[in-house]
Amino acid sequence: MDSATDLNSPVEKHTFEGHTFFIKRDDLLHPDFSGNKARKFYYYLHHDFPHISTLVSYGSAQSNAMYSLSVLAKMRGWHFEYFVDHVAEYLKAHPHGNYQAALNNGMQLYEASFDEKRFGDDVLFIEEGGRQKEAEFGIQKLTEEIQAWQKSTSLETVNIFLPSGTGTMALFLQKHLPNCTVYTTPCVGDAEYLKQQFLMLEMDENSHPRILSMDKKHHFGKLYKENYTIWLNLQEQTGVVFDLLYDPLGWRVLLAHSELFSKPLLYIHQGGVLGNESMLARYERKYKDKM
Ligand SMILES: *Cc1c(COP(=O)(O)O)cnc(C)c1O
Repeated sequence: MDSATDLNSPVEKHTFEGHTFFIKRDDLLHPDFSGNKARKFYYYLHHDFPHISTLVSYGSAQSNAMYSLSVLAKMRGWHFEYFVDHVAEYLKAHPHGNYQAALNNGMQLYEASFDEKRFGDDVLFIEEGGRQKEAEFGIQKLTEEIQAWQKSTSLETVNIFLPSGTGTMALFLQKHLPNCTVYTTPCVGDAEYLKQQFLMLEMDENSHPRILSMDKKHHFGKLYKENYTIWLNLQEQTGVVFDLLYDPLGWRVLLAHSELFSKPLLYIHQGGVLGNESMLARYERKYKDKM
């Protein structure tokens, strides 16, 4: 095993809006390979794939998964082919964020649909966003780090909070941390969608994470003044840079459920900070002189 990819992240203690909490800094795992997607793709770093020469995946042209896969392919010496429906003209003309970084890593981008059956035996195919059972391997490693931290601090049971997309991370955390309660909130769909995602991975509802929701409907990727404000406040009060797609909603939901702080609370920082560049430019254009 290469020590550069032997992942392990620190836990820090901070205070936000009067609430003290712990944070697992998975954004600091590795300079290029960090956060939620690094945990999900860890399996592919630590298993042998003697016949594979090319990694193939698909999704949006700004996604964290696309960037992390470009790093994985580079580390493993694989070609990386990525399929998108559409790349915005502005992004093509002004490459930035995850898109630019993935291209710099040698990503071959196809603005086209694809046929999975077309791929040969030398192709490793990964689902959009890394939603597959191999994700459990790296997430289990994360739970072992959390248990070691709990032991060293004598915190036998903690509340864990993280915002969800597909819910893969939240589900496997709960599965491997039976002494803790994992709370999450849906950022992409609604609570019913998230529950369906959990059911695809685990039939036993008793071992699902607890879902907390906002009263108001929230659209993924849309600009909300409340999200920008809480993101700025988090940075000012904690010095930690959070991601702009998931964390602002996560923190709004968490502050609305302050009973979770009655036990030691561990927030999982899932990375994604490289993707902030495009969101931040949009927020600044919209709100900079209006706050
Ligand atoms: C992918 C991602 C998520 C969502 O993870 P799921 O396991 O799909 O719930 C949350 N935060 C960040 C920063 C991500 O990159």
